[in-house]
Amino acid sequence: MSRFYLSIFSGLTMLFIILATAHGLGPFIHLTPEETNTEMMAFVFSSTLTIFGVSLQRAQLHRTEQDKQTAEKQASYDPLSGLLNRRGFMPTLARLDNQGRRYCVAMLDIDNFKSINDNHGHRVGDRVIQILAQIIHNRCRSQDITARIGGEEFALVLVDIAPDEVEPLLEAIRSTLANMSIVAEQQTLYCTISIGWADSASGHDGETLLHHADLALYQAKSAGKNRIVAFSG
Ligand code: GH3
Ligand code: MG
Ligand code: MG
Repeated sequence: MSRFYLSIFSGLTMLFIILATAHGLGPFIHLTPEETNTEMMAFVFSSTLTIFGVSLQRAQLHRTEQDKQTAEKQASYDPLSGLLNRRGFMPTLARLDNQGRRYCVAMLDIDNFKSINDNHGHRVGDRVIQILAQIIHNRCRSQDITARIGGEEFALVLVDIAPDEVEPLLEAIRSTLANMSIVAEQQTLYCTISIGWADSASGHDGETLLHHADLALYQAKSAGKNRIVAFSG
């Protein structure tokens, strides 16, 4: 029962007992009106105190539960990008396997990110991470899972996606960043990403697909970066 209904119920019960006593009915009726009044006042006082105590305890419990949920959420999300972190991502991926869903896993890595940090500063590097996270967020669909699982590494799970829709979605992310002039800290720069991806149609579990996507990403890097490679086992 919510605190509101508990208060209403208790208030009405007290009112009922007070009215009954005023009409000479109930357990508080004694030989002298003084005794009746004293017992009534004691009853009202102790009831009010009990209701107040119970409400306070319920409010405390509610706040503790909310704090717990907030802490759990914070532990699963990356504050810089606003996406899931590795800790939040891995169980989400495992849950998909349990549900028997069809999906693709993609790994994205910013090209030459160390040079961006070295040439433009760490704060500009952080801004690039945020911009890429925003592009990913805008391009992915509501059912997709998006995460920053390393310094400049992102993982996507494209859930229930048709095979011919995977490359266009990844290409949209790649080309949006590649064609963008990034302005940060009074500097302008250009930046690209490499992408590797793998399909659950191969029958492997999420963790294996993530590894396959990483292998494909490595191929994309070796082939010259700023490109998308599908894993072919
Ligand atoms: P490649 O094209 O092969 O991916 O090379 P890379 O330079 O992007 O990769 P490398 O692994 O050599 O460097 C990654 C750099 O990312 C090194 C590290 O200092 C930087 N980094 C990791 N986390 C963060 C972060 O949160 N913010 C910033 N600004 N830099 C970060
Ligand atoms: Mg990199
Ligand atoms: Mg990397």
